Amino acid sequence: MNEALIIQNGLVIDPEALTIIEKDIGILNGRFAPVEEVLKQDRNEIQYINASGYYVSPGFIDLHAHIFKDYTELGIDADKVGVEQGVTTIVDAGSSGYENYNLFKEEIINTSKTEILAFLNISRKGLCHGLSELANLEDLMTLEEAREIFEKEKSIVGLKARMSGSVVKDSGIQPLKHARNIADHLHKPIMVHIGNPPPNLQEIFPLLNKGDIVTHAFHGKKHGVLNETGEMIPEALSAIGRGVRFDIGHGTSSFSYRTMRRFKEKYDIAFTISTDIYKKNYSHPVGSLMVTMSKLLALGYSLTEVVAAVTKWAADTIHLTEQGTLSYGARADVTIFGLEEGNSLLADSEGDELTCHQILTPYMTLRTGKVAYKKEDGIKNIRAL
Ligand SMILES: [Zn+2]
Repeated sequence: MNEALIIQNGLVIDPEALTIIEKDIGILNGRFAPVEEVLKQDRNEIQYINASGYYVSPGFIDLHAHIFKDYTELGIDADKVGVEQGVTTIVDAGSSGYENYNLFKEEIINTSKTEILAFLNISRKGLCHGLSELANLEDLMTLEEAREIFEKEKSIVGLKARMSGSVVKDSGIQPLKHARNIADHLHKPIMVHIGNPPPNLQEIFPLLNKGDIVTHAFHGKKHGVLNETGEMIPEALSAIGRGVRFDIGHGTSSFSYRTMRRFKEKYDIAFTISTDIYKKNYSHPVGSLMVTMSKLLALGYSLTEVVAAVTKWAADTIHLTEQGTLSYGARADVTIFGLEEGNSLLADSEGDELTCHQILTPYMTLRTGKVAYKKEDGIKNIRAL
């Protein structure tokens, strides 16, 4: 028997065409299919979801979160910030390393409804033994170890190097040079976290190549990607020219409205929106991926732009072909959400507040064509017509 589902009357956001059109979406055996194909199935077997008044999008992808619960001090429950918040794919950004990836896989990847991928920390220890994981160069994963684990574990999509003073201590730029070497051999992207120097961006950016990702790109600390007059520093500009990508990575101290506004004023460059969500910033200031997206809406980005940033552009960044799209045949991960009107005062990581008139609110989340989460209140339940 085929599993047939039609999501009816939703405002469908296509992040590839950047359009919002009211229409139906067909799903057959967990994959997107033309509605006509679905209607050819046994009428009594077809399920319907009424999405009238709601937006329907490919499932949201959060490129930077920390979900190694119980084994790292940051770790938060994956589904709580995943499918329950409309996020169908979470990429854990460096919580695990070579030494404890297996544990991460058993305890988190294999037990979550949310799809879990990972940037593997270049420190073997990941974040399981505190937050200065690159202070000791002897902890760096070797090229041989990296080759072995990347070959075996397909959920690992790249490397994570947290390049700020408190993480690297006396190691300076060395850990990133090491990551560069591994990335060049294995052809995998590096997600680099930037923060308080050392090392400074003049050392970091020249080591990044096409496809690498700079997270916390819009922090409000000194020595960021923009200079005092709001221009990108030359090293950042040339990195962007080479195909390096920017990511938000909101976090406790890494997203500034001021920086974002100044960037928006001068640059029309696509970036991904991610949360860097973990236990201590979940209630404030991050909230969720949808809350973070709502902040970008309030800063003047359009709904299609913010949705594209967590679907098409996020999938493209880590080379996913099944996610971030509504193409026929692709895996049917779907986020259905509402836009709540109001006046919410939301803070960035600097304590600046912004009035947000529209807040994205999760309504229903589908993974491979099955309902993984639905909001209990105000839900128009799945009904058979
Ligand atoms: Zn992080």
